[in-house]
Amino acid sequence: PLVKGYSTEMSLEVTSLGVQVHGGMGFIEETGAAQYYRDAKILTIYEGTTAIQANDLVGRKTARDGGQTAKAIAAQVEKTEAELAASGSADAQAVHKRLKAAREAFLDVVDFVAGQTKASPNAVFAGSVPYLMLAGNLVAGWQLARSLLVAQALAAKGEDAAFMNAKVTTARFYADHILAKAPGLRDSIVEGAQSVTGLALEAF
Ligand SMILES: Cc1cc2nc3c(=O)[nH]c(=O)nc-3n(C[C@H](O)[C@H](O)[C@H](O)COP(=O)(O)OP(=O)(O)OC[C@H]3O[C@@H](n4cnc5c(N)ncnc54)[C@H](O)[C@@H]3O)c2cc1C
Repeated sequence: PLVKGYSTEMSLEVTSLGVQVHGGMGFIEETGAAQYYRDAKILTIYEGTTAIQANDLVGRKTARDGGQTAKAIAAQVEKTEAELAASGSADAQAVHKRLKAAREAFLDVVDFVAGQTKASPNAVFAGSVPYLMLAGNLVAGWQLARSLLVAQALAAKGEDAAFMNAKVTTARFYADHILAKAPGLRDSIVEGAQSVTGLALEAF
């Protein structure tokens, strides 16, 4: 569910940005940017909509084993955090800070999902898509952090400095601007269900 759900939701963000950077020419057809945006929209709908992927993540992938698999992944992330902390570079330190905060937010949500799905299913499923986005964000940030460590090591050996620097900068940008959103999502999921389910059905 993370690969399908998170990647396709992000494709919408990326293609929307593609329209935006072209301004009015992005909106009309001549650039072709709008076609990518339209085509990306179906990706979140077929082969299991994002909400269906999120239901799977909550039910079969998290609640069923009491969050054990999710916590095992978080433990892997924590190992990368230790490598980042040991690396000493400013970029690694910055990514470490964001990755740690995102993992801790993820673990809070895993505890909420594993602990509340039976007792309060509506409260948990109200946050299922934000949980999918938080988990996808964490895993993507983790992989980029790993790529930063590899790129730093290769750059130190004198390999393709421009390419390695781009890898490091990309990982840093992702951590500073995208991974940084994870703690906010945690709050929405763990503390925000009441307002999702607050209106009576008749209100719709
Ligand atoms: C261009 C295109 C090509 C397609 N190709 C194929 C194909 O080749 N083969 C095939 O079998 N199908 C295909 N489909 C169908 C596609 O798989 C369905 O559109 C998709 O599964 C969503 O089902 P639905 O349209 O009935 O939406 P609905 O099930 O009505 O969903 C509407 C909204 O409600 C949400 N929702 C529904 N149920 C739940 C729930 N239990 N919990 C939370 N949210 C929920 C959904 O996430 C969605 O946002 C295609 C569709 C399109 C548009």
